[in-house]
Amino acid sequence: MKKTIRDYDLKGKKVIIRVDFNVPMKDSMITDDNRIKESLETIKYAVLHEAKVILLSHLGRIKTEEDKNGKSLRPVAVRLSELLEKPILFVYETRGKRVEEAVANMKNGDIVLLENTRFEDVDGKKESHSDAELGKYWAELGDIYINDAFGTSHREHASNVGVASRLPNGIGFLIEKELKYLEPAINDPEQPFTVILGGSKVNDKIGVIENLVHKADFILIGGGMAYTFLKAQGKEIGSSLCDDENLQFCKEILSSYCDKIILPVDSLCTKSLDSKDGIIKTDFDSDDIGVDIGPKTVELFKKYLDISKTIIWNGPVGIFEEPAFSEGTKRICEILKQNHGITILGGGDTASAAINFGYKEFMTHISTGGGASLEMLEGKDLPGISIITER
Ligand code: AMP
Repeated sequence: MKKTIRDYDLKGKKVIIRVDFNVPMKDSMITDDNRIKESLETIKYAVLHEAKVILLSHLGRIKTEEDKNGKSLRPVAVRLSELLEKPILFVYETRGKRVEEAVANMKNGDIVLLENTRFEDVDGKKESHSDAELGKYWAELGDIYINDAFGTSHREHASNVGVASRLPNGIGFLIEKELKYLEPAINDPEQPFTVILGGSKVNDKIGVIENLVHKADFILIGGGMAYTFLKAQGKEIGSSLCDDENLQFCKEILSSYCDKIILPVDSLCTKSLDSKDGIIKTDFDSDDIGVDIGPKTVELFKKYLDISKTIIWNGPVGIFEEPAFSEGTKRICEILKQNHGITILGGGDTASAAINFGYKEFMTHISTGGGASLEMLEGKDLPGISIITER
């Protein structure tokens, strides 16, 4: 059990909270403020307990001075202030006199947000390479460090590991919730345990398959990655996505775990990704492109899912962004909605599909971190969480 923000007396303390304000932006306008909303519980708790709250976050990837355009956290400060109904002091810098003065002048309950931590990457990737001096500098601003940015916890950065290693530390409510659902589902799942994998690339899911194939009763494979598995079985896949480099891996997994790996038996096929027309096929022509699982596959997957007590889903089973190719992904959402067990969705595309199709409230947990949840599924330790002290 990791220490949490609740383990500390925060009154009058300078509490550095690493949040995930990596929100989508267009023309310096926030297009989805969900990540800011997800951070509110921890920030409100710190304010209520009279801490001086110093917020750190990154936004996007910054390599050059030009990359900084449109990547300031200032619009986030404005939105955060609206949501909290409270002024936020935004400092346009990541270190220096202004930062130090702002922190020195804080009163209990005040909130200061520093500029995008990745602005430090322009000068030798100091944030992303966890530069020791930068981690020390930020740590010296505070008394306690709280990590609540699950989405970056799989990275060892100055603003998480660098600061956490130098201060009394804990996790915030968002990470606590992620661990509460993900850890038992991955490490000690109630069985039958089924994993649904989809998305485009086999390569991204090899680690997950290797880690979970021993624990899972079934692995249902859909999406673009299914076609490499079907080709490994000697099936014609036409012009569907194929990851030839991983064909051998697919062959080996299929021969070792043929009863566990369940593949599509039909697909929605199109002749061109620009067209919205598709027909359901079990046998492909050489110019067919598989864009979604077909109805027979949905029924087949349903049989396994209906008897499952734990389900983890990572990767859409079709090109869900295109309404004409989204039926399979919607049907999987519907099957999970009816399931009475634990249903956990990995972040990224699977989360947006379920949320956009209106299924958020019917899932046990939808992870906020794409890469971080994937690494947990691979059985890896997340450095931003491993560094946090055990209770
Ligand atoms: P990933 O980033 O690997 O999780 O892949 C997510 C992407 O996979 C989504 O953008 C989907 O549109 C895409 N996808 C799902 N099924 C297919 C398919 N049959 N062919 C091509 N792309 C697909």
